[in-house]
Amino acid sequence: MSGVNQIRSAFLDYFARNGHEKVASSSLVPHNDPTLMFTNAGMVQFKNVFTGVEKRAYARAASAQKCVRAGGKHNDLDNVGYTARHHTFFEMLGNFSFGDYFKEGAIELAWNLIAREFALPVDRLLVTVYHDDDEAFDLWKKIAGFHDSRIIRIASSDNFWSMGDTGPCGPCSEIFYDQGEALKGGPPGSPDEDGDRFLEFWNLVFMQYEQVAPGERAPLPRPSIDTGMGLERIAALMQGVTSNYDIDLFRALIGAVVDFTGAPADGPQAASHRVIADHLRASAFLVADGVTPSNEGRGYVLRRIMRRAMRHAQLLGAQEPLMWKLAPTLVAEMGQAYPELVRAQALIVDTLLTEETRFRATLARGLAILDEETASFAAGAKLSGETAFKLYDTFGFPLDLTEDALRPRGIGVDKEGFNAAMERQRAEARKAWTGSGETATETLWFALKERLGATEFLGYETEKSEGVVT
Ligand code: ATP
Ligand code: MG
Ligand code: MG
Ligand code: MG
Repeated sequence: MSGVNQIRSAFLDYFARNGHEKVASSSLVPHNDPTLMFTNAGMVQFKNVFTGVEKRAYARAASAQKCVRAGGKHNDLDNVGYTARHHTFFEMLGNFSFGDYFKEGAIELAWNLIAREFALPVDRLLVTVYHDDDEAFDLWKKIAGFHDSRIIRIASSDNFWSMGDTGPCGPCSEIFYDQGEALKGGPPGSPDEDGDRFLEFWNLVFMQYEQVAPGERAPLPRPSIDTGMGLERIAALMQGVTSNYDIDLFRALIGAVVDFTGAPADGPQAASHRVIADHLRASAFLVADGVTPSNEGRGYVLRRIMRRAMRHAQLLGAQEPLMWKLAPTLVAEMGQAYPELVRAQALIVDTLLTEETRFRATLARGLAILDEETASFAAGAKLSGETAFKLYDTFGFPLDLTEDALRPRGIGVDKEGFNAAMERQRAEARKAWTGSGETATETLWFALKERLGATEFLGYETEKSEGVVT
């Protein structure tokens, strides 16, 4: 059986043999893009190389990139624990061509890796292409020998990638694996495509055009390739399991949770185990990259992730802080591939312990209030925004923790009411300040602070439809 660590190495070695420079993962905090909250794909560190602003000594690269999708355009936080394939933190394996090989090379390299090196059963594989991309359609037919029915044309934006309103863009082709009829769900493009049966595991992006202005596209003189394959997903396929949480790495993490709590991994508490294991990785890697829990920006996303895991630890019956005890297992599993984890181990332990100690002081009382308030609620009911805000303000419950706690009972939260209560409190704070005798400088300072606060959140609030939170 190939473990996660071997698969990562095999991927990088394969592309190195095929003329690619192995490039280390960049930080989860993107230093070249102020609009992005966290690095969420392998191409992020190469953005300026694709646009030609930056030159590198190589035209082909491969990486295993740390990614977090828990805010901004890609937010998978709510999925975690409930789908078999989503994490907040995951590794994206990718190969990149900067004006070197294009569609044919990319499809050949991908096919050779999965069908030959990784020896996936080819009759389980199918692909999507963008609806008008005849070139990709014909290449898949030629290279993989696929019957037409295994190459699905998709018209939605899922199969057209763009960097932003302007800049490089182009069609995608995604590779799927049919995990068999025992699982629910239809093939990509069908109404029930979100089921578990057909697993998307690799996205090939063909950067072919430049979006010059809205509605105006020009062909790129030297088209490029950007691909992303979820390491945990390919590991699940290669290890013959239908959930990412059953791969070797997650078994080890969940095993540690079982050891410390005594709660069985399978059964009604399985989702809590998954959330804890997932959020442990996100928390530890974010701390290692310099993020600390706080009440705004990146730090607040980290705090939300940590506190959500900590509530699940409590659900498993943990009587004392749990997360910090799991750090050594994580470092043992991933420290070799990511030495920054080893270097930051003491800080990770300390941050987790401090946060959980602090949160546990109010967690039980907050949960008791939540239970009381919703005792008479039936499925479909909504918790008032006022109460959700009180839980936030007094007990340190992030909104998504409250939502997560109520979801199993089919109860929602009035988010607009929550935002309104938050806004009222801010307005009160401003009024109180004015009362102290506001000068012109103070007025200016407030205006500035609000503007900068808003700017810091741009990547998050403008993209996240529900847009909440301080
Ligand atoms: P999905 O449709 O499953 O949400 P996606 O289309 O949003 O995935 P891409 O943006 O195409 O994902 O990213 C490339 C690859 O990264 C995916 O094919 C998948 O293997 C992996 N991936 C994406 N999001 C996650 C996640 N939250 N957890 C684990 N792997 C992921
Ligand atoms: Mg997604
Ligand atoms: Mg997808
Ligand atoms: Mg995709």
